[in-house]
Amino acid sequence: MPPLTPAEPENTPVNGSETKHYAETHKDIGNLFEQNLEYVQMKKARDPLFFEKLAATHKPKYLWIGCADARVPANEIMGEEAGSVFVVRNVANMVVGTDFNLMSALQYAMSVLEIPHIIVCGHYDCGGVRASIVNRDHVPPLENWLRNIRDVYRLHQKELDAISDPEQRHRRLVELNVIEQCINLFKTGAVQRRRVETYMNKDLPYSTPRIHACVFDPKDGILRPLQVDLNKYLNQYHDIYDLYTVDEMKKMRLVNKYL
Ligand code: ZN
Repeated sequence: MPPLTPAEPENTPVNGSETKHYAETHKDIGNLFEQNLEYVQMKKARDPLFFEKLAATHKPKYLWIGCADARVPANEIMGEEAGSVFVVRNVANMVVGTDFNLMSALQYAMSVLEIPHIIVCGHYDCGGVRASIVNRDHVPPLENWLRNIRDVYRLHQKELDAISDPEQRHRRLVELNVIEQCINLFKTGAVQRRRVETYMNKDLPYSTPRIHACVFDPKDGILRPLQVDLNKYLNQYHDIYDLYTVDEMKKMRLVNKYL
């Protein structure tokens, strides 16, 4: 009976040469390692202490929730250096309450890193958003994930159905999806705890995190803030989603230092 997984030729050292094995294994990823060394040299040339400073602390200013799409690299399009952006990416930049990956990163970002700004960034020509409006089973787990975007369409069906041009409808769904994911962030205990906590801190000028809805267009490279008043939604949904009051928070902090 043949082995289930045939041994790959490169896994066998040629003439006992580990160096050959290493070279064969990595030959398809081009110049990544050389490019990395060039990056190191370039950074050191500009600032000899760059990596000492990078290693000394982790205090990012932004939590970026973006699409996994390769055309939307967070740091690069914002012109931010390493160290300033805490990044979570998934298909169509979703904030799903049962996504333990994103929820864990969000909890860490709020309670430990105390990041003051969350950027939810969608992008036009999003494959996930396009797939979500097709009446086809993309099979689990992808279809389960896309159903969250189908739900966004249902919430805004009247507005979206009124747009006759399919591309314009797609772009509007991308934007509405970003707004809904921002609202989903406000529903979470992690964000609400941090906002109450910072509200109680008289040394801070305003409550954080601030949540920013943005869309990136791969056609022109521009990152645009969406003109949306998230407070309007928050005021509308307080009675449904609020988990804490300032008084409750004060009491809880007496019994649980991790809140
Ligand atoms: Zn996308």
